[in-house]
Amino acid sequence: MGWWMTRPLGKGGALAGAAICVLAAGAVLFAFAGRSGAAAQSSLTVNLPPPVSDRIYGAPEARGRPIVVIDAGHGGRDPGAISVSGEVSEKDLTLALARELRDDLLKDGRVRVAMTRNDDRYLTLDQRAAVARRLNAGMFVSLHIDSAPNPLARGATVYSLSDVASDAEAARLAESENRGSADDASDGSVEAMLSDLAMQSQMSASADLAARLVNKSAGRFELRPNPHRFAAFHVLRRADAPAVLFEAGYISNADDEVLLRSPEQRTKIAHALAQAIETDIAARAHR
Ligand SMILES: [Zn+2]
Repeated sequence: MGWWMTRPLGKGGALAGAAICVLAAGAVLFAFAGRSGAAAQSSLTVNLPPPVSDRIYGAPEARGRPIVVIDAGHGGRDPGAISVSGEVSEKDLTLALARELRDDLLKDGRVRVAMTRNDDRYLTLDQRAAVARRLNAGMFVSLHIDSAPNPLARGATVYSLSDVASDAEAARLAESENRGSADDASDGSVEAMLSDLAMQSQMSASADLAARLVNKSAGRFELRPNPHRFAAFHVLRRADAPAVLFEAGYISNADDEVLLRSPEQRTKIAHALAQAIETDIAARAHR
């Protein structure tokens, strides 16, 4: 977690600072417990989530293969959208789908996998993208579930990075998904980080990936009309790799909720995503 401490002390920095204080307090308690046993043990109830991990999943034979970072959207105090039944939230379904996608990719062994989270924790968008940058990932796939005031809206959409949104709805969605990065969205560091040329190539590689995702998904599960859309998602821009944001369906639609809560249905979606990811990685290796 060293990189946390090198960041300017914005909201995230303050939070990290607080976490470090709690850790330090925990260490003191722990030292104390060593000396006076049971009495201090009851004080050791601070429930600290472990720091963001850069665990890479993959068989030893997959060493050197490209790393795909799977980002389960939302988490912790940010539930994302709540389902129409009120029984489930976006953060739970994105995590379930992320695990299914990871397992599908690992079965084939063509890529290695990292996850921005594998439990119910809050991460800023930059913390998510930073995992991809630290691991020099070959791809970043952020998983979400959409929600709309129109209860009939349903189906999946794939968004790729662009500086201009494809339509008003895409722009609105990016704005709402970008809200989680309020601590670091306006510091201009994104623009400083990537030259125009690098940005152009990242955007075009992301569009290729999105097209493949749509291709492999068509006929397997419900897609929206014009399923490939574009918008300026911070989390994608900062990943510094071909990156897409996949909205698996509408949690605000009763039929989509049933489908997305079904492990069989999610496995189908994960399988289509895995095939598209593997095809895209292979295509780029031969370019
Ligand atoms: Zn979301």
